[in-house]
Amino acid sequence: MATTKQASTGLQKLMEHQVADIYYAEKQILKALPKMAKAAYTAELREAFTEHAEETQGQIERLEQVFEALGLPAKGKKCPAIDGILEEGKEMMEEFADDEALDAALVAAAQKVEHYEIATYGNLAAWATQLGHDDVASLLSETLEEEKGADEKLTHICETLINTESEEEGEMAEVEEGNDRASKASGSKTASRGAAKASSNGSAKRTGSNKR
Ligand code: FE
Ligand code: FE
Ligand code: ZN
Ligand code: FE
Repeated sequence: MATTKQASTGLQKLMEHQVADIYYAEKQILKALPKMAKAAYTAELREAFTEHAEETQGQIERLEQVFEALGLPAKGKKCPAIDGILEEGKEMMEEFADDEALDAALVAAAQKVEHYEIATYGNLAAWATQLGHDDVASLLSETLEEEKGADEKLTHICETLINTESEEEGEMAEVEEGNDRASKASGSKTASRGAAKASSNGSAKRTGSNKR
């Protein structure tokens, strides 16, 4: 039977383990975000990824402060979950590279990352408070708020993408040839939504995108 002391030692261990886990995860995320920014079609999404990469750099530094406050060396522990989430994101990026749904795929992949982080930081902050590490708790809460902010921004972008696509249906007359990305993708979109046929290869002008 666990006494209070044993239980609290276990929670301290758990916190240390999860700090090392998220430290590894943040470093992997920091590597992935510039690739996702580069792949993003719309400027808004590209900027969101770029900004979050900067935030992520700060989050890594904050975790180093956490290690210091806990009297531990800053050392990551391999997190198979984030490796899997990022691997799946990479697969989606490749599969939808030439598809109009690419940004939607990128948003979905990124939100899976944010939700993993939110789960981790939320628990970590609560444990730190419970263990009396208020300094550590406030560092972790600061990052938690950034992750929630990033997630909300992605939700907003997801909604914008959907609205942009509905606007496009009304603008099908404005056909623009030559965008192979759009032509490849919008054929199925046009068919599935029963919207007006744009052209033989279904090329539709994208609004809200200023890349290329
Ligand atoms: Fe993060
Ligand atoms: Fe993990
Ligand atoms: Zn997860
Ligand atoms: Fe994040």
